[in-house]
Amino acid sequence: MARVYNFSAGPAVLPEEVLREAAEEMLDYRGSGMSVMEMSHRSKTYQGILDEAEADLRALVGIPEDYSVLFLQGGASQQFAMIPMNLMKNRVADYIVTGQWAKKAWQEASKYGKANKIASSEDRTFSYIPDCSDLPVSADADYVYICENNTIYGTKFKTLPNTKGKTLVADVSSCFLSEPVDITKYGVMYGGVQKNIGPAGVVIVIIRKDLITEDVLPATPTMLRYKIHADAGSLYNTPPAYGIYICGKVFKWIRKMGGLSAMKEHNEKKAAILYDYLDESRLFRGTVRRQDRSLMNVPFVTGSEELDAAFVKAAKEAGFENLKGHRSVGGMRASIYNAMPLEGVEKLVDFMKEFEAQNL
Ligand SMILES: *Cc1c(COP(=O)(O)O)cnc(C)c1O
Repeated sequence: MARVYNFSAGPAVLPEEVLREAAEEMLDYRGSGMSVMEMSHRSKTYQGILDEAEADLRALVGIPEDYSVLFLQGGASQQFAMIPMNLMKNRVADYIVTGQWAKKAWQEASKYGKANKIASSEDRTFSYIPDCSDLPVSADADYVYICENNTIYGTKFKTLPNTKGKTLVADVSSCFLSEPVDITKYGVMYGGVQKNIGPAGVVIVIIRKDLITEDVLPATPTMLRYKIHADAGSLYNTPPAYGIYICGKVFKWIRKMGGLSAMKEHNEKKAAILYDYLDESRLFRGTVRRQDRSLMNVPFVTGSEELDAAFVKAAKEAGFENLKGHRSVGGMRASIYNAMPLEGVEKLVDFMKEFEAQNL
């Protein structure tokens, strides 16, 4: 068995240890005589898995009692609708558009009310984060929305926007659990887990309890109401049971590794290796404004489409998978999530140096 270094933006690399443990439990989960995949979600055993996952996540992030944790389906994209449907009481919300995912969320919200684009970085292909210290936040805005880490473009909010007292809603799909966060600064923090936490099919929503109300937009489907899921403890209907079980294992793995501050240190170390090389390379260069660089997604180019393609191909042959940039940006992108080992980044940079020497 040979595992490659997988730089995919998502679904993405998971800790090998977690996969091995899941493999061991595949046929018989701890004496139950069945796989977690085959288990009733109403069973005591499964309730234990769900409760433990929530408790570990709460401990990791430091989620206080006045926030609910929901394990839902529909991916991050379903939240683009669920957020306005549940939160747009005045039918007004402000969006900061820093990439395709934020843009999609903004467009979706426009179906339900007045979604104002109060800042954008589209003028320079989303290669930076706009100054959000004094934005024209709408007086009647129900919330201010950001995509905190822009997976496609490789930018990250290093400071949260000044929302002037309005509720902050953040899509953290690609930076979830990559560093410590102060959850009390957010009304809603959500993300699809397939970037940094688990298998596709689960989306985690951490939401302040006062935002969970019956007062939602008319005709909001039952399944898209936060209150339904919160009241049922994420068991209103069959949850993505196996996916949640894997997420739970990843929470335990992160705790064992030292928690979110250890993750941050590990991620900063990895990112520095790659960015330092990009800054000194005569062939490759990063595409993002320095102060806005993501620790998770690192886009880079050679300046020649032919050379980019040749690099991606050669890298694949050498065991570095999924380095091709997003179709809307081109070039390359190395996603170096929590589970990417330091050695993977070191070896990638060694390989890039060799490629540079041969192609200058
Ligand atoms: C991947 C991604 C999405 C979309 O996730 P789905 O689960 O496929 O809907 C949304 N936002 C961000 C930041 C992402 O990285």
